[in-house]
Amino acid sequence: MSGELLYLNGTYMPLADGRVPIEDRGFQLGDGVYEVVKVENGRALWLDEHLRRLERSLAAIKLAGASIGHRLGEVIPELVLRSGVQQGAVYVQVTRGVCPREFELPADPVPTVLAYTRNVSGPSAEAIQAGEALHPVADPRWAHCDIKAIDLLAAVLAKEEARAAGAQEVAFVGPDGMVREGGSSNVFSVIDGVLRTHPANERILDGITRGQVLLLAREAGCQVEERAFTLAEITSAGDSKCEVFIASTLKGIMPVVRVGTHVVGDGHPGPVTLALLDLFRRKVALLGGLEMPPASS
Ligand code: PMP
Repeated sequence: MSGELLYLNGTYMPLADGRVPIEDRGFQLGDGVYEVVKVENGRALWLDEHLRRLERSLAAIKLAGASIGHRLGEVIPELVLRSGVQQGAVYVQVTRGVCPREFELPADPVPTVLAYTRNVSGPSAEAIQAGEALHPVADPRWAHCDIKAIDLLAAVLAKEEARAAGAQEVAFVGPDGMVREGGSSNVFSVIDGVLRTHPANERILDGITRGQVLLLAREAGCQVEERAFTLAEITSAGDSKCEVFIASTLKGIMPVVRVGTHVVGDGHPGPVTLALLDLFRRKVALLGGLEMPPASS
């Protein structure tokens, strides 16, 4: 089995057979929202959390209930099962459907609802050990980043800028100097032992992985603050006192070893990051029904 299968408006089919009309509002206007769900050992992880966020995004774009009738809570596990995907992701998208190109909202939209699976492996042990670099970019996005909207042009262009600068991810920075989030991840710092990340407001996407990291850190007794930090706080922290990492569905927890030209800490993944990564891996293994050795004390 290829691991790729599409559910499009009620029908299961090979991904390559999917067709959406030119006048789909998602295609022409970016008028839609999406989710990416991680699959581990053939199970869709944190599905309820993803579906709740999808409903919040739909309500925010005045499409509340658009996925009703499609029972995505059943469709997604069925898709994963039928596709045979073991380790990968499900991409889910709901747009305002097909109608002549107008800005006004159609009175009776028939949403385009789709989901498809793909085989994707997480970052390798070597990639995690090497860590990533963040390229700071003045945040050019709109003021509703809490909506998981399909229009990702600002992130596409910022990520290209990061790539040209030799970095793997962007750090979107507000006019107040606060680090908001990555192009497709949330950003965390550990400064003087305190784990910090931007509060979940309209400036960031409240990542499902972000939520799990905060939960695991609190359970482990770590001091946690949902309070933004500046680039200057990272660059001025003493070498041994600062760690940075990013978190997302597809990367999990990824250490950050450089921000702009500044080397973070000693240039290697820090101890708090690695401890959280270990806890996170155990949680993923548990939810995926996999065996994991007990945590080292
Ligand atoms: N912020 C942005 C802008 C993102 O695109 C993503 C990935 N979808 C995240 C944060 C991380 O969210 P999640 O942990 O739900 O993948």
